[in-house]
Amino acid sequence: MRKWQGLGVFPKIAIGPVYVLSLRASIIPTDKISDTSAEITRFENARTQAKAQLHDLYQQALAQTGEENAAIFEIHQMMLEDADYLESINDFIKNEKYNAAYAVSKTSEKFADLFSQMEDDYMKARAADVQDISNRLIRILCGKEDSLAPLQTPSIIIAEDLLPSQILLFDEKYILGFATAKGSVNSHASILARTKGLPAVVGLGMKWLDNCSNKQTVILDGQKGTFITEPDETSLKQAKKMLLEQEEESLQLAALKGTPDKTKDGREIKLYANVGSLSELKEAFNFDARGIGLFRTEFLYLDHQDYPTEETLFETFKQAVQIAKDKLIIFRTLDIGADKTVPYFNLPSEENPALGMRAIRLCLTNPQLFKTQLRALLRASAFGNIAIMYPMISSLKELEQAQNLLEETKQELIKEKIAFNKDIQTGIMIETPAAALVSETLAPLVDFFSIGTNDLLQYTCALDRQNSALIPFTDLHHPALLKLIKMTVDNAHSVGKWVGICGEIASDISLTETFLSMGIDELSVASPHILRVRRAIQQARIDK
Ligand code: PEP
Ligand code: MG
Repeated sequence: MRKWQGLGVFPKIAIGPVYVLSLRASIIPTDKISDTSAEITRFENARTQAKAQLHDLYQQALAQTGEENAAIFEIHQMMLEDADYLESINDFIKNEKYNAAYAVSKTSEKFADLFSQMEDDYMKARAADVQDISNRLIRILCGKEDSLAPLQTPSIIIAEDLLPSQILLFDEKYILGFATAKGSVNSHASILARTKGLPAVVGLGMKWLDNCSNKQTVILDGQKGTFITEPDETSLKQAKKMLLEQEEESLQLAALKGTPDKTKDGREIKLYANVGSLSELKEAFNFDARGIGLFRTEFLYLDHQDYPTEETLFETFKQAVQIAKDKLIIFRTLDIGADKTVPYFNLPSEENPALGMRAIRLCLTNPQLFKTQLRALLRASAFGNIAIMYPMISSLKELEQAQNLLEETKQELIKEKIAFNKDIQTGIMIETPAAALVSETLAPLVDFFSIGTNDLLQYTCALDRQNSALIPFTDLHHPALLKLIKMTVDNAHSVGKWVGICGEIASDISLTETFLSMGIDELSVASPHILRVRRAIQQARIDK
């Protein structure tokens, strides 16, 4: 038995046979060629064929999973037009006289290396896209079939890295979970695993992959981030027990759909979901979220190669409100900066990015960027129930400036005779100690607060939330954090405003009763946690 440690992406367990996914043509010919122009024509034909395949995949994915998930195939088509990528392949053929498949494979390695060495997690994840388009070209050039076709038994898919274009079209009845040697929790693959509720572990390392073979039985634990090969009897027994418990629990929890978020003594609160995309939004309502407490709009920017236009943003927000019907969606305005960087923003590097030009600061410095988003949100408000929330507020002045820009945007829309909800609710994230401490002065200017405990803990305890070496120093229940939460609730309630929590701590059921006793009005959690938190609410009593 051997236990491998990676990063858990979705907290479920799976036991089953391994299916090693190799999307490369297994042997890439290394022959040199003499007729370079014939080889370049052969490459061009393969490129045309690849683009046609991607066009078909786009249409297929659009019909099956919607625009957002289909977009990756459009990106891949664009990558097949990239001048640097094409120049590198052509040079390999013309100057080094290698066959086209080998030229593609060498170019793929070069570009994937470049991406994977980048600091930024989003750019790192793009290495998988370069490999994906290159492998498609290689398969065409070598006349190979797509290697997923033989999968006939439910299996745990393992790969060096998961290729986004394949995951979307996996037949879900054959997939028990995913594990990859590389990858990051921000990759498309991880995002998809989470929305599909599949157990998944990434970052297990290349040595792990070398030790895996097809059909061997393994245990994948997305909670602990582990992958056990050749499990002994005891671990298998334990995992099977956990699997049964997991299934039983899912059934019990499913029975809570449609039941109220009310304590034993009758206190009802709002149980909402955190999402970052339209597909996660749909998933949230499948888990019976009563609303969306945090829509992280920055993910819409991370998924683009350039600034999304007002029209693109408006269409996405409008689709979101149409999916939500009359349920509230709280859209958080752009929270770019710190760990969430976007190349086309061209932000200068900073000594302390978490304390730097991020979120509302970036928006107040670039009012046009902010107003484009506000216009799109206001326009979408004509179609449903939405609220606007500003991140990282730390002073009254910032909040006033943000509200002034919103007012200015409303006046422009009125002049242009464009419809929007004039009574749209606004709120702020309380995620800096300063905001909690002056929440009394901030509350009159907004309709609600949502406490972002992930950042509030980081700034209160001066503990970088990105640094895993600090885990031993981190107390998620630090009394200072709980005091700031309580202070925020009291200050909001004193002027009749409501308060929620949307940081990860909202799904910590050991604190549910505490939050209810403090008077918290809303909890917003990742969708797969909704029903577990509902159960904790229903089991709580706060009249003690
Ligand atoms: C938070 O800081 O608690 C929060 C919800 O925002 P994010 O995790 O996106 O920074
Ligand atoms: Mg935050």
